[in-house]
Amino acid sequence: MTDRTPDPDCLFCRIVAGEIPSEQVHADDLVVAIRDIQPKAPTHVLFVSREHIASAAELSDADGPLLGRLYAAAADFARAAGIAENGYRLVTNIGTWGGQTVPHLHIHLLGGRAMTWPPG
Ligand code: AMP
Ligand code: ZN
Repeated sequence: MTDRTPDPDCLFCRIVAGEIPSEQVHADDLVVAIRDIQPKAPTHVLFVSREHIASAAELSDADGPLLGRLYAAAADFARAAGIAENGYRLVTNIGTWGGQTVPHLHIHLLGGRAMTWPPG
């Protein structure tokens, strides 16, 4: 397992630590959720691990509780936001070709409009 201590050069580590302001919509012992600064849908929220994990490619069986929390927090938020009935998308980008720009684990919740498939 790679080092998961906070990285002072990581944007999301700094947001989780409160060093950089964000519009936080959820926080628990494992996950912090913030509104995306450049929303790609009417609802665009990022569910971010508190630990510095470079991407979902770094996860192992031992991360089951974290994965469950990330998805459960997103589903709870979607229900509370009133977008669950129509459906929404949860996605995590990995690496350059996956479109990842912040190398710290996060799941995008995109909703409030119909999504297209396949993504670009
Ligand atoms: P990804 O490209 O999948 O790594 O997702 C990173 C996301 O973080 C992008 O959708 C960005 O718009 C978003 N983002 C970048 N900087 C901030 C910030 N300071 N606060 C909130 N979201 C951000
Ligand atoms: Zn980080």
